[in-house]
Amino acid sequence: MENKIISTAKKCEADIIGFAPAERFDRDNNIFKLLPETKTVIGLAFRIPRGAYRGIEEGSTYYQYTTMAVENMEETIMPMAQLRVACELEEQGYLALPQRRHQQIMAQENSTNPEVAYDSIYRGMDKELQMDFLDAAVKCGLGEKGLHGALLTDEFGPMVSYCFVLTDAKLPPAEVYRPHLCDGCGKCIAACPGGAIDNDGNVDPWQCAVYYNGANGTKNPFMPPDAFKEFDNRLEIIAGKAKVTPETARKILDNIYFYPSAQHAYQCSICGRACDIDCYVHLEEKGVLTKKFKTPFRKREKCPAKKCQ
Ligand code: SF4
Ligand code: SF4
Repeated sequence: MENKIISTAKKCEADIIGFAPAERFDRDNNIFKLLPETKTVIGLAFRIPRGAYRGIEEGSTYYQYTTMAVENMEETIMPMAQLRVACELEEQGYLALPQRRHQQIMAQENSTNPEVAYDSIYRGMDKELQMDFLDAAVKCGLGEKGLHGALLTDEFGPMVSYCFVLTDAKLPPAEVYRPHLCDGCGKCIAACPGGAIDNDGNVDPWQCAVYYNGANGTKNPFMPPDAFKEFDNRLEIIAGKAKVTPETARKILDNIYFYPSAQHAYQCSICGRACDIDCYVHLEEKGVLTKKFKTPFRKREKCPAKKCQ
């Protein structure tokens, strides 16, 4: 049966498929509250086309990354694959529960998701259970955890999206990565134009949201000269040096209108996903990624303006 599931998932564009037996999860893990009969977690990882990052790397187009690499992956490509895999399991008489990321629902009262508009999020939804995606991806053998919390894969580095199907079918376990990709170089931390990642790799979600949306002037070709004119610390904000709180972040975000958001409240990554891109470039330069390309991703030195960060 595993071959049928793998071929169905591949036909639906999944690139990496791994099965984690239930024994890899503690009994109090949310997967058992979501589906107590869970015997296997099926992990599906999808490459984000490397070319989709070119516009946000060069500062030439931001909409393509947001619509093709985030919105379409989350809202169309991955749910379609999950549904087909779930139907395949049901055909064989098994239970199957797809699990996609809740982009606009969170258990915490005062956190945010930088990928969507902060005021589109329903907070404090602790009865709406969600599994720990990164932990499950690692247990499914899809990749390893990078310092800044991205899933790093042998094939595509951090340029992947992923989702799951819980099932009561028993499937052969995937090998879990022995971590070998993240070398602790810190380039992901240094690349963030808003200092949103601390030295231990923890990402401050509000700091990230402000700079993901383009508060750093050196990363934002759309910023008007009088941006943030109501703010006493406008130069600090524009230089990527302002430390925000949830309250000040909301005010700054209310004053960012530089680029239209996509559907489903998805926001454009004006920061250029610098943490992931610099990680990818680092792994590519080291030659450790198995998916090879004819030319390197980075075509020229990063914009000199960024050297002032
Ligand atoms: S940039 Fe370096 S430290 Fe950060 S996740 Fe990638 S390999 Fe690890
Ligand atoms: S580079 Fe962008 S996505 Fe990464 S932590 Fe900084 S603001 Fe967030």
